[in-house]
Amino acid sequence: MNLKILWMYHDLMDLYGDKGNAEVLRYRTEKRGIECILDTCTIGEKKDIASYDLFFMGGGADREQNLIYKDLLSRKDAIRDAMDQKTAFLLICGGYQLFGKYYKDQDGKVIEALGFFDYYTEASDRDHRCIGNIALETELDGKKFMAVGFENHGGQTKNVASPFGKVLSGHGNEYKSPYEGFKTDTVLATYMHGPLLPKNPMIADAVIARALRRRYGEVELAPLDDTLENKAREVMLKRLHVI
Ligand code: GLN
Repeated sequence: MNLKILWMYHDLMDLYGDKGNAEVLRYRTEKRGIECILDTCTIGEKKDIASYDLFFMGGGADREQNLIYKDLLSRKDAIRDAMDQKTAFLLICGGYQLFGKYYKDQDGKVIEALGFFDYYTEASDRDHRCIGNIALETELDGKKFMAVGFENHGGQTKNVASPFGKVLSGHGNEYKSPYEGFKTDTVLATYMHGPLLPKNPMIADAVIARALRRRYGEVELAPLDDTLENKAREVMLKRLHVI
């Protein structure tokens, strides 16, 4: 058994530790004896996107989003094929935004996005950037839990059909929003950097299970000792007065 991950624009879309998500996915698969094949793909490189179990894309400042969006749009049909073949998606912040209808950046420039989902994003004025630690109450594939992360985005994402979670502390999809992120049965899109996965092992395992499902069906992941990871999350939940 192996897990094939395609890490898009690893060299450009990687804010606030997003690369750490790739390391956690590799660690949590190999610890279970599952081979992890982690490939990267940046502007101009060719990869068979639909042959991967997981499509992972980190966040980026407006500058990097402007640099990569045309290349991303050129892969629209290939990404749609991957979606049709149940590839799982982990999209962080700027990556999240670029799967909706459009992103209007801080300078008012409208960046065309992939349009796979009806949400759209418009940057706020500088007084309403969403910056800081964030905690959510969420549920993934039947399991309820609290998650923590770090957000820094001007983008205000609206018209989100199925949010990832309920904001307990922080902003979320918009300045002081009650909801954060977006999810479907294969897509997890969130504003949570940090990186997201080290302090939220249940999210990491849900993403791995979703990705493995594509070729292997339901896979029972052996539990790992997450004492340290859960302690780290607990520290943040306490610091945010959520518990
Ligand atoms: N540039 C986008 C914004 O400011 C995304 C930022 C990010 O990926 N952290 O909303």
